[in-house]
Amino acid sequence: MKLIRVALDIPLPRLFDYLAPDAQESDIGRLVSVPFGSGNKIGVVLALTDVTDQPVKKLKTVQSILREIPPLPASFIALCEFCARYYQAPLGEVMAFALPPMLRRGKLPRMRAKVLIANISSPSKAEVGSGMGNDGGEAGVSQSTALRLRSGSAVLSRHSTPAPTGTLPNLLAAQAQAVDAILSAKSFQTFLLHGITGSGKTEVYLRAIAAVLARGGQALMLVPEIALTPQLQSRVAARFPDAHIVAAHSGVPDAARARGFLEALEGRADIVLGTRLSIFMPLPRLQIIVVDEEHDGSFKQQDGLRYSARDLAIWRAQQLAIPVVLGSATPTLETFFHAHNARYRLLELPLRAVAKNLPTVRAIDTRSEKLKDGLSQALIDALAVRLERGEQSLIFLNRRGYAPVLSCPPCGWVSRCHRCAANLVVHLTDKRLRCHHCGFEAMIPRACPSCGNVDLKPFGRGTQRLEHILAERFPSARISRIDRDSASTPKKWQTLLDAIHAGEVDILVGTQMLAKGHDFPRLTLVGAISADAALFAADFRAPERLFAQLMQVGGRSGRADLPGEVLIQTDYPDHALYLALEDGDYGRFARVLLAEREIAGFPPYSFQALLRAEARTVEDSIAFLSIARNAALAMADCGVTVYDPVPMKMQRLMALERAQLLVESINRPALQAFLARWMETIYTQKKPVGLRWHLDVDPLEI
Ligand code: ADP
Ligand code: ZN
Ligand code: ZN
Repeated sequence: MKLIRVALDIPLPRLFDYLAPDAQESDIGRLVSVPFGSGNKIGVVLALTDVTDQPVKKLKTVQSILREIPPLPASFIALCEFCARYYQAPLGEVMAFALPPMLRRGKLPRMRAKVLIANISSPSKAEVGSGMGNDGGEAGVSQSTALRLRSGSAVLSRHSTPAPTGTLPNLLAAQAQAVDAILSAKSFQTFLLHGITGSGKTEVYLRAIAAVLARGGQALMLVPEIALTPQLQSRVAARFPDAHIVAAHSGVPDAARARGFLEALEGRADIVLGTRLSIFMPLPRLQIIVVDEEHDGSFKQQDGLRYSARDLAIWRAQQLAIPVVLGSATPTLETFFHAHNARYRLLELPLRAVAKNLPTVRAIDTRSEKLKDGLSQALIDALAVRLERGEQSLIFLNRRGYAPVLSCPPCGWVSRCHRCAANLVVHLTDKRLRCHHCGFEAMIPRACPSCGNVDLKPFGRGTQRLEHILAERFPSARISRIDRDSASTPKKWQTLLDAIHAGEVDILVGTQMLAKGHDFPRLTLVGAISADAALFAADFRAPERLFAQLMQVGGRSGRADLPGEVLIQTDYPDHALYLALEDGDYGRFARVLLAEREIAGFPPYSFQALLRAEARTVEDSIAFLSIARNAALAMADCGVTVYDPVPMKMQRLMALERAQLLVESINRPALQAFLARWMETIYTQKKPVGLRWHLDVDPLEI
């Protein structure tokens, strides 16, 4: 009896066996179409076997093995297996997620079919180039010619002289040391490249990548979603004109994404530049992984498969015995901790490469002052000076909309979302109330729904209101707002950026959207208002994030010859966070936070996982978690602390009531072993109708 064991995209932690009379060893890693339920499903062949624990009578026969698609390499399967194990997710779901949607459906991108056939008989990269050269003159000439040229030039980059070095800047001593250290890593090593924006981190990545390409290797560079800008892509492309660079992110159209995946898998892509999902790109000659802005929250997926691309990058580098470089101005405390405890190697870039003048950072004490529409006199004066000099300013307020809530002062009514534990935000530009959590929208009511009062008041300030306030105060200034409403499409975003660069904007009002990946040479003032709230947030990671945000926004100023100034309005000017910001000394603040975390037993001094449940009533959610908790407690002592189930901070979301259960251990393997056993019981646990649950390993938000 010849069987194949198949991973299917089914929310169950198991594999499925099928009869496959003509299956061969070489089919392992191939996609298959198999009967499932009333239809067919695409899965991945993981093994050939002749034993099964399924009843033999019930075994079905595979429909077809998709041999026209190249098999997934063992390293790809191993990464998926680790991901499934670590995050306690079904392997079939992980694999489905890791594959581009088109391949997941068992389809090939159209114009690639011919090339793939050529590739089967000539697997090496140089040979693929010539193999393709031989099959010219067929239908679809222009497409395959384009491919041939692209592939041909990729071959060139491995065998002819690299780009002329004369045009590259001389590395600063610290940069040169960093590049040396990375390139001399003989096996697995995690590096933290710690340096502020503009200190030359990207230059270090590019030099290291150049050396890797020259040795015939492939490079993977991960960047946060918001930082994968056309500027960055063209900077990389300009540096490696002969390399074949594949962009991988959710915005890439289906066919191109599948094509990029296959090019990477077949070794014809030299560099993959992408967001978190590109960590799954199969790269047979991968020799370096870079994770830029490693602290960025977008590396952790917050729904579905809750994986951290940063952490998977480290695992993958370890598997392949290659270096992985984490770069940041404000590393996560986990990374900072390891870099200062010799587990990672710390590489510091102390200076800003181009800007001779670092911005001065100053906290403005707002306790003793009556603010004018939220603005201090010092900030107003600083704005006026910039306008006079023809320089740009940016006011950072991380809250979009006009006002966070609409209220009726006489009766106390406030605009609330009926589906979430959240206020409806006033959006005056299109006269609507909006829930920023579930997307619910309504017209702004003419009168209070509760008492009929017609004098409703927007309460608090968002970016739209700030824009109005500034327009009133500086009538001649050209003001532009940048947030997810004004820059809702890449085209609108680009138009706004062009206007800023062309000097058509005097004052920018924006959310953190503005914080990353953009150089504004004429920008010399950054003001931050309403930052304090994060100091006292329930989430223990909030201060770390606030520091990163303010440092990043501040880094927008004074990039060229003009010195920058950062003014932060606060009621707590002596808070350790602001003092460290003023000194530009993240390390000092990080050590304060680490000391607090050690006392509290929070990560990096412990490892956590959250079991979350959502149901129509909070009682249902809590009851489910209580049973799970009892099951956890019944497992013999395993160095794991199991807390009580509690309603989530934002309990109601999209009309579901949510609760969570925290488990924690100072020992990661112990937590992992516990989770594996615990999940078995949870999968079989009875649940009320409509209840959904998930496990979040290493959650970012508690
Ligand atoms: P980061 O990634 O840390 O923000 P970059 O590598 O982008 O820093 O460097 C900031 C700017 O300085 C870029 O325009 C880059 O080309 C330039 N730069 C980097 N290193 C040097 C150097 N050694 N000499 C001159 N310019 C440099
Ligand atoms: Zn809502
Ligand atoms: Zn009222």
